[in-house]
Amino acid sequence: MAARIERALADQSMLIAESGTGTGKTYAYLVPALLSGKKVLISTGTRNLQDQLFHRDLPAVRDALAVSGKIALLKGRANYLCLHRLERADSEARFASRRDSELFVRVREWAARTRRGDISELAEVPEDAELWPWVTSTPENCLGSKCDRYNDCHVNQARREALAADVLVVNHHLFFADLALKEEGFGQLLPGVEAVIFDEAHQLPDVASNFFGLTVSAHQLVNLCRDTIAEELKEQSAVPGLQAAAEKMDKAVADLRLAFGREPQRGPWAMATARQGFRAALDDARARLTDLTNLLDQAAAKGTGLANCFRRASGYLDRFMMLCETPPPEYIPWFETSARGFLLRLTPLDVANPFRSCMADHPRSWIFTSATLAVDGNFDHFRQQLGLDEAETAIWASPFDYRRQALMYLPERLPEPSAPEFTERVLEAALPVLDASRGRAFLLFTSHRALKYAAEWLVGKLAYPLLVQGTAPRAELLDRFRALGNAVLLGTGSFWEGVDVRGEALSCVIIDKLPFATPDDPVLKARASAMEETGRNPFVDYQLPNAVIALKQGAGRLIRDEQDRGVLMLCDPRLLRKSYGKVFLASLPPMARTRAFPDVQNFFTQDTTDTTGRVDAATG
Ligand code: SF4
Repeated sequence: MAARIERALADQSMLIAESGTGTGKTYAYLVPALLSGKKVLISTGTRNLQDQLFHRDLPAVRDALAVSGKIALLKGRANYLCLHRLERADSEARFASRRDSELFVRVREWAARTRRGDISELAEVPEDAELWPWVTSTPENCLGSKCDRYNDCHVNQARREALAADVLVVNHHLFFADLALKEEGFGQLLPGVEAVIFDEAHQLPDVASNFFGLTVSAHQLVNLCRDTIAEELKEQSAVPGLQAAAEKMDKAVADLRLAFGREPQRGPWAMATARQGFRAALDDARARLTDLTNLLDQAAAKGTGLANCFRRASGYLDRFMMLCETPPPEYIPWFETSARGFLLRLTPLDVANPFRSCMADHPRSWIFTSATLAVDGNFDHFRQQLGLDEAETAIWASPFDYRRQALMYLPERLPEPSAPEFTERVLEAALPVLDASRGRAFLLFTSHRALKYAAEWLVGKLAYPLLVQGTAPRAELLDRFRALGNAVLLGTGSFWEGVDVRGEALSCVIIDKLPFATPDDPVLKARASAMEETGRNPFVDYQLPNAVIALKQGAGRLIRDEQDRGVLMLCDPRLLRKSYGKVFLASLPPMARTRAFPDVQNFFTQDTTDTTGRVDAATG
């Protein structure tokens, strides 16, 4: 893999490389990247992976190769201490709790000694602490070059180092924000870069969809109103009616939220506009936003705060207009509401075109790698989604001995997933498996509803500690899971990927259903009908491959190294009853397979050396 990547780096080509768990793919791209002497940008899926790469893997490989070359790490601005806001918080902030005040003291002490200002350095303050927004910046509240602390600002320092680095580590969100010149981006990462390597590349189509689209949210608009009032008090533009305009806008946002209907939902834009009274509320919000923007235009000269509000207001107004008028045909207009807020979105029908044009601006190497890119050995789906027509492809299978290390259990007599009793039947089938595995399991669900049902149903039925997603932050749940050593963790969404629990603490993964996206998802629906119009089959070309990749990710939690052993229980009977089930099975690692529960018991009791023979015999 390293040799292949070396070639792609040398001849500025495009390579899609699937690399199974345990192949050492990180080293396989770091070694040629560092030896190439080129300016390389590496983008990973999450900030944790960024940290791991920058603090652990990159220095290790650089030292082993004895090469020089500057390496740098760049995250989104919310990850850096803002010196200006820290000073302001010190003099003005009224923290909601005593705990926040105590944490603030720690932040202040750390601020005096940190070099990078990366908030992940301060592990004792949780990532989701309410304190962080007080001492970090947003594109909205950053004063930019007008800031007194501009020269020693951590965000700017990180950006300067990023531009000077030979190897720069970013994450996909930041990469696309930069490419699409969105809030976080500063539009300077890609020029000058000779090679881009994406790890966890399977996430790119979704991230790109978000960033090549447009969003206006109730949250943004309400914050704009609040900031306008606060800045007007401070900067005193004396533009008549400014404060009143902000208040009216605030009310119009609340009215617009009500016009969507009480229940949180998501749907195509047409569903909202068909509601009685919605158009009027929308027109009113647009008129209020126009008024506010015009007044802010007059006030902007009075100070940086008001100028900042004007810039934001005109941006929101442009997007609002695009949504309210006829949205461009290459976008899918849709909305999502929560109890109090709403998101108005325009998502591109297809990200291949915008992504292709970004890639075309300058010749460079593009490398896409992940453990889950191919569907039954085929890369067409990934290739089409991102428009990577000329890319070469290659697969490096996992070196693990799956037939010995893992057993796939497909229980018999489970109903169709649409049956009302499905989740209960899955749990009934899971109980003896959890006994056999002595806890040590993940139960991964495809919906929050099933997760909630399971969390209630399992109370009092398990002899092992039960951990449930949503009851504590994800990192804390995983720490507890590892420490307990016999826990059962119920998760959905984010627990399907990026979770690495090695060793015996995780010996069983149970998956309720094949992870097809909800068919009434507005983006999925619009993409499916666009595909039908061009004669393609959206199920085969889009829904199925996406679900296969998701299942590969979920199943991939089980075996993380050569010593791991475990059972993968897949409860969806469509795997064997439907013809497409074969595509899923062919895409998973080559595990021994059984439908008989005694094989599961044997697997957990017997010595690892004779697993294969006995299970294969039982499977027939
Ligand atoms: S330039 Fe922006 S991020 Fe930097 S210290 Fe000033 S306000 Fe904070």
